[in-house]
Amino acid sequence: MLTDIGDVMRQCYAKGWITSRDGNLSLFKEGGKHLYITPSGIKKTLLQPEQLVKLETAMDPETLQRRLWISDHQKPSGEILMHWNIQCNTPGTRAVLHVHATHIVAAMYRGFDLPQLCMNFGEIFRLTRVGPSVPVLPALTREFADATADCLGVHADGSLEYDVVGQTNHGVCAVGADPWAAYEHIERLDHVCEIVLKSGVSPGVEVFEAVMR
Ligand SMILES: [Zn+2]
Repeated sequence: MLTDIGDVMRQCYAKGWITSRDGNLSLFKEGGKHLYITPSGIKKTLLQPEQLVKLETAMDPETLQRRLWISDHQKPSGEILMHWNIQCNTPGTRAVLHVHATHIVAAMYRGFDLPQLCMNFGEIFRLTRVGPSVPVLPALTREFADATADCLGVHADGSLEYDVVGQTNHGVCAVGADPWAAYEHIERLDHVCEIVLKSGVSPGVEVFEAVMR
């Protein structure tokens, strides 16, 4: 599954969802003690499993919260706060993927509400739970990390209400049981956003009304 991390990042690059050094992906394996995450600033197109940052974690007996350690020599993705918010209490194997998927970011920029936009499209509605979008916030900050977890509906037991959320004027964050599952949530949402943008309808206009004009 570690090999999948580089493969997913290369596919995201091929789709045009990131420039070569953008995007990040983390993986926590059920029963494991480490969080694997993409390193900061490296070319994702060349990423190999041995380049992943392996961070130590352990359960704090007092708070019953899993804690994370980052050594001085380790350089995890700058979005580590966002990843750990979603990973810290995961009940099983979990992958978290953040990229700048073109059509999703464009749809939000145009003013579309992503959950509402998806209601007309059964193929995403059935398979991917799309949460409310994160407002405009600076990347790499605690605020951005907390707002992403809030929009995904992360509960104290680690369960989630949604699989994917847009991050306004920035990107998208998806969660899956493995790196490709997280990728597929973004792929479905990006495809629907591309269809809607190419249709020419405006935000707030029902698809039915747009067809009738
Ligand atoms: Zn980003």
